[in-house]
Amino acid sequence: ESLFSELSDIPLDSHYALKEEFSADPAPKKVILGSGIYRDGNGMPWVLPTVKEAEDIVDNIGDPGRYDYLQIAGSAAFYTAARDLLFGRVDTKVESIVSVQAVSGTGANSLGARFLSESLKPSAVWLSNPSWVNHANIWSLVGVEVKYYPYWDAEKRLLDFENMIKTLESHTKPGDVIVLHGCAHNPTGVDPTKDQWKTIADVCQRRGLFPFFDNAYQGFASGDLDEDAWALRHFAGRENMELAAAQSFSKNMGLYGERVGALHILTASPDAASKVKGHVLRIQRGQVSQPPRRGATLATTILTNGKLFQKWLLDLREMSSRIKDMRKALHDELVALGTPGDWGHILTQIGMFSYTGLSPAQVEHLRSEGHVYILASGRISVPGLNPGNVKYVAAAIDKAVR
Ligand code: PLP
Repeated sequence: ESLFSELSDIPLDSHYALKEEFSADPAPKKVILGSGIYRDGNGMPWVLPTVKEAEDIVDNIGDPGRYDYLQIAGSAAFYTAARDLLFGRVDTKVESIVSVQAVSGTGANSLGARFLSESLKPSAVWLSNPSWVNHANIWSLVGVEVKYYPYWDAEKRLLDFENMIKTLESHTKPGDVIVLHGCAHNPTGVDPTKDQWKTIADVCQRRGLFPFFDNAYQGFASGDLDEDAWALRHFAGRENMELAAAQSFSKNMGLYGERVGALHILTASPDAASKVKGHVLRIQRGQVSQPPRRGATLATTILTNGKLFQKWLLDLREMSSRIKDMRKALHDELVALGTPGDWGHILTQIGMFSYTGLSPAQVEHLRSEGHVYILASGRISVPGLNPGNVKYVAAAIDKAVR
């Protein structure tokens, strides 16, 4: 008899379960549009050309300390360059921003959640309904009640802004945390407009909510680093606005497995920042001690070498344009097939994902009849589409919908 016998069974994470089912399917033609990883036009992983150049530079330097520990806060060169990329040149406020390297976006969310749960003791964290699946997990792990604000209007297939604001205005308590996706909302691909962002910032200030931005797609969404950081910078530019931001280089540098990210906390004063930093480092020390080095070194090389940085902008364009092309290709195929329904939302959504609006039954039909694997929510990972499979996927969707 084990001490663990009484534990409940935890089902495999939906992404990994989907991959297993896909691998077990013997069909000769099958497609998976599950997890958020970029694939090139041949369906292959893509090492960014800029990352290859950075690898050469880093390896040629042959730094004898390349396997030493970093600081607990990580590489200062990395997290300051990362901060400037995200916040822009907010020179007057840098003394009030605490930045630390984190184990990618997930680690930054997690470190931030732990710190905010301890320091603000929020009555709840507010997530969009739906949100990235791991947000609820991360906040539950630190013992904060998870509540949801309306976000997706399933019928109209767009942002349910009115109900979002109504809920935030009437159900939140001061000191609650609200998680906001900086751009390219996962899983819906639907972002607020700039005017809507301003309204959200107003509500946060009026209701005393603490905004926690999750920025996993800067530059990857629109191809423009400034555009994708607009919402965060708007909040950060306001008087008396404190906020946190999780930043990831998984998608925009394609460094998924290297776990490169940062947590930033904008405070009201340098004095508050220094206290916050102490507590964040105390937590980091207990959780990861020192964050990983190599990916951060590659990212720093790209961010601080002018020539490489310019080339990286081209890589971002390439990824975002290919995704936009695939949105158009899928949309146009569905229209050409006369597939019942309106598919315009596939074009207007942005970033890695599209919430297709397919029902769970249609998703099941896609899988059993078409051998096309997508999450039960109807979310597809758009970069999984390519010229070789988009017609096939559209035909399968067409059959599932009829
Ligand atoms: N946050 C959001 C909204 C995401 O979509 C993702 C990845 O899919 C992440 C965070 C974390 O990714 P990583 O831990 O690889 O940075």
